Amino acid sequence: LSSVVIQTAFLGDVVLTTPLLQALAEREGSPVDVVTTPAAVPLLETHAAVRRVWPFDKHGTEKGLGALRRFAASLRAERYQTAWLPHRSLRTAALAWLARIPRRVGFHDGWRFLYTDVRRRPDTGHEIDRLLSLADVPPRRYQPAIELKLSDVTAAEKLLRDEGLKPGEPFVALAPGSIWGTKRWPYYKELAQHLTARGARIVVVGGKDDWPLGEQIAVTARRLKHPAVNACGKLALRESVAVISKAMVLITNDSAPLHFATAVGTPVVAVFGPTVPAFGFGPRGPRDMTVGVEGLPCRPCSRHGPATCPLGHHRCMNDLPVERVLAAIEETGALPHRN
Ligand code: SF4
Repeated sequence: LSSVVIQTAFLGDVVLTTPLLQALAEREGSPVDVVTTPAAVPLLETHAAVRRVWPFDKHGTEKGLGALRRFAASLRAERYQTAWLPHRSLRTAALAWLARIPRRVGFHDGWRFLYTDVRRRPDTGHEIDRLLSLADVPPRRYQPAIELKLSDVTAAEKLLRDEGLKPGEPFVALAPGSIWGTKRWPYYKELAQHLTARGARIVVVGGKDDWPLGEQIAVTARRLKHPAVNACGKLALRESVAVISKAMVLITNDSAPLHFATAVGTPVVAVFGPTVPAFGFGPRGPRDMTVGVEGLPCRPCSRHGPATCPLGHHRCMNDLPVERVLAAIEETGALPHRN
């Protein structure tokens, strides 16, 4: 009675699906298979609840109906009994149907005519729990996890050492990037300056596109004669997660690194702009904090946050001062309080 979970959403969504994978693996007594994007494969291939990861390049090699049919034929050969479809996506629903998987479980706001079992997606609650409800698993029973290999940790340590940090030296990680422009808090540079002045070491994490911003932030800290690392684009995905796992705290926007930190147990300060934690994607660890501008009539303005502020002022981020974020960092206990 084997299962396949088809989750081809963003990296953060894939991490938030790992509790569902664990729940299914426990219920079935064996690891499950997962179809996901090529970018998300490293997040799942080491997970104990996962047997096999199928990379599905929906925007590349598997684009188009012919490619979808070929991919479905490969899945069909595996004779899966159940497809779990947490993502509201026509392509993934069609994939399960074309693969002739006899039981296809999806949420009511997806593609009901392609499912055999339709579950109601809860309107409220954390996304982790909403995803668990697909398999009728009670909330908070499982936590997200990313399992690191020793080689990931070694690569992360080597980079930190090569860039001037002493082995085991505590540091604060900053993740200033986001695919959505309005989700980027604009004061990471100033924050790095304050933190460095207080003796904290800074490591900026992100992808290749974040490198210029990471460099600006690191240079600001280095001006105060302290080592600061710009790790953006220099590490593979799981190696970046390994850096986050070693940080005292991660400061991030409402973006994938928030969920990476949760999955490796690092405290988080999450800066929310056009979105709000009530959407279900906030951190919920005992030491985690969220900050945002309260009482702004236009906030929240969209589910993901638009590319640019429709009102032009971007007050949801511009009005959020460094002091607020610093105070939240102190609340996590990762930094000593000022007298
Ligand atoms: S409309 Fe408001 S919430 Fe949306 S991006 Fe602009 S300032 Fe932020």
